[in-house]
Amino acid sequence: KGSGRNVVHFFNPHLKQKASFELQLEEDLRQALQQDSGLTLFYQPIIDLRSGALSKLEALVRWHHPQHGLLTPERFIAIAEANGFIDQLDNWVLRRACIDLNSLDHMGYPGLKIAVNCSALNLANDQLPGRIEQLLNSTRCPAHCLELEVTESALLSNINRAIGLLENIRALGVSLSIDDFGTGYSSLAYLRRLPLDTLKVDRSFIQDVAHSSQDREIVHAIIAMAHALHLKVVAEGVETAEQLAFLQERDCDQVQGYLFSKPVPLEEIVARFPPHYRP
Ligand code: C2E
Ligand code: CA
Ligand code: CA
Ligand code: CA
Repeated sequence: KGSGRNVVHFFNPHLKQKASFELQLEEDLRQALQQDSGLTLFYQPIIDLRSGALSKLEALVRWHHPQHGLLTPERFIAIAEANGFIDQLDNWVLRRACIDLNSLDHMGYPGLKIAVNCSALNLANDQLPGRIEQLLNSTRCPAHCLELEVTESALLSNINRAIGLLENIRALGVSLSIDDFGTGYSSLAYLRRLPLDTLKVDRSFIQDVAHSSQDREIVHAIIAMAHALHLKVVAEGVETAEQLAFLQERDCDQVQGYLFSKPVPLEEIVARFPPHYRP
C-alpha cells in the first residue's frame, strides 16, 4: 500500500499485459471447474513388460480452453496451486477417473487400474483420505482400481505426516506409487518407510540408456533397489525399441511412453487396446 507512488515508477505495459493474461486464465480455470466444462482426462497406457498386456492407465488432465485450445497441465496446474484451488482440480480429476473406471468395468475391463497424479500440496491436507473414501463410495468405484501417484518433493516437507496420510489412503485399498523417482531428494531410509506399491523411474534416466552406460547402471540399480523393497517398477518415457530391450533385460516390470502411446482420450484407449488385448 505504502509503495503506491513507486509502483508507478516500475509500470511496464508488457508486464501488466502478462499479469492480466494470467489473471484471466485463473478466472477461466475456476469457471471451468465450477461449471465442469472444458476439463478432460487423457489416458496413457502402462504396459506389462512380460506379457505385453495393458496393465494400468495413467490419467493426465487436459483443458480445452475456448480461446487457447488444448492446454497441457504445465500451463495450468501451477495456477491452481498458486491460487489455492489445486485441491478442487485434483478432486475433479479423481471423480472423473472413478467415473471412467466404472465405464471401463462395464466395457469389459474389470480390475484395470487408473493411476491419478496428486499434487504435492494436497498431501499436506489431512482431509485427503476422507475425501477419497467419500468419492469411492459415491461413485461406487472399487478402491483397488485406483492408484495415487505422489512425487518425492511432496513427501519431503513433513515426512512423518505424509507417511500417516499415505497409510490412511492405503488402508482404503488404494495403491500408491512414487512418481518421477530420482529427481527429488528422498533418502532410501524414507523410501523404506513409505507404504508404496510402485516406483516410477523418471523419464530423464530412461532417455539416454541406449548411449550412456552410466544411466544404464543407475536404472539397473534403481530397479534392483525397488525389487529389494518389494516394489513394482514402471519406466517412464520409453520412446525407442532399444530402451525397451534394455528394460526387458534388466527385469523392469512395466513401461509407459510414446513407443506405445501418447496420452489419448479414453475412446482411443478402448479402440487400440480392446478388452483382453494381447500383443
Ligand atoms: P507426470 O506425472 O510425470 O506425467 C508424465 C508426463 O510425461 C505426461 O505429460 C506425459 O504426456 C509425458 N510423457 C509420457 N510418455 C512420454 C514419452 O515417451 N516421452 C516424452 N517426452 N514425454 C512423455 P503431461 O500430460 O503434459 O503432464 C505433465 C505433468 O503434469 C505430469 O507429469 C504431472 O506431474 C502433472 N499432471 C498431469 N495431470 C495431473 C493431474 O490430474 N493433477 C496433478 N496434480 N498433476 C497432473
Ligand atoms: Ca505421474
Ligand atoms: Ca512421472
Ligand atoms: Ca514428470
